Amino acid sequence: MATIFTRIIKGEIPSDIVYRDEQVTAFRDIEPQAPTHVLIVPNKEIATVNDVTPEDEQLVGHMFTVARLIAENEGVAESGYRLLVNCNRDANQEVFHLHMHLFGGRQLGPMLARR
Ligand code: 5GP
Repeated sequence: MATIFTRIIKGEIPSDIVYRDEQVTAFRDIEPQAPTHVLIVPNKEIATVNDVTPEDEQLVGHMFTVARLIAENEGVAESGYRLLVNCNRDANQEVFHLHMHLFGGRQLGPMLARR
């Protein structure tokens, strides 16, 4: 069964797409946690970071190039931003289709919540 992100990429579910090419699609998170909160998603389904292979290295590198471009477009490149990828249970991964969060537009605080 297609992931929810594949359905967004195919246009079956509406979303606010900010960037798209033959390898990745980026759209605004439905529950933004910062003024800029964009998800950068490979068009190809990869469930988690644990499923990334050496063949995906160009694609994963491309996700960073796209992140840089989106940060510029969103006006947060100079002020700063955070890129984050969750993997599995302890990281609270919710959608099992690899994605990079791009957060920006406010002071983001410490990297991890204090326990
Ligand atoms: P994860 O916890 O897996 O790293 O993050 C999944 C993210 O996907 C969450 O921030 C959540 O708000 C977002 N999300 C889940 N479903 C949808 C959706 O249907 N549309 C959009 N735009 N974002 C979604």
